[in-house]
Amino acid sequence: MVTHAEELTALDQAIGDGDHGLNMKRGFEAVLAELDKTAGLPMHEALKAVGMTLVMKVGGASGPLYGTLFMALGKTFPESPTRASVAQAFSAAIDAVKARGKSDVQMKTMLDVLMPVLSTLNEGGEDLYARLRASAESAAAATVPMLAVRGRASFLGARSVGHMDPGARSSWLMIQTIVDVLEREGLAMKKDENRAASK
Ligand code: ADP
Ligand code: MG
Repeated sequence: MVTHAEELTALDQAIGDGDHGLNMKRGFEAVLAELDKTAGLPMHEALKAVGMTLVMKVGGASGPLYGTLFMALGKTFPESPTRASVAQAFSAAIDAVKARGKSDVQMKTMLDVLMPVLSTLNEGGEDLYARLRASAESAAAATVPMLAVRGRASFLGARSVGHMDPGARSSWLMIQTIVDVLEREGLAMKKDENRAASK
């Protein structure tokens, strides 16, 4: 979010008020500043803490919505996460965003990335990390031809068509980053297993 702030700003300048980059940068810089504290918490509490920080710092429409996403994820996040139980928690968190935003897919919002990613997570199977990244990317691209029905972009009517939704891009960035970290940690774990096995 911090390194992509200008890109998010440019997207929001096209179909919004141009604050999405700074909003997200401010929010995630605050999350980073608290990392020492949150890293020591159990995952579900860390997620809630991140959500509260985002609500307080991001502002705009996306602050309460991303805040809701993380707080709701924290509420149901499993103690020993498996793909299926994480998918369940993610699904509940997306439902909370829908309720908060009175929104759903096909309205040209962050939900148009989050929902397809959830479907991919539910499918499971081979190359899951690569497929999660790919589904976030193609889902964000699919918001370009959409007509905005929620948020500031909806004020533009037909002029909202032809631009990627800024929130779809920030959700794609978020998913991509999480998947990259999971993959890296997964590989690290595998190496540890190999090392243990060879002892
Ligand atoms: P604001 O629109 O108040 O300036 P931001 O620019 O930070 O807030 O965020 C805009 C993004 O928020 C949009 O690109 C869209 O993805 C998302 N968004 C706005 N309204 C809704 C809603 N009702 N439901 C889901 N997402 C929404
Ligand atoms: Mg904006």
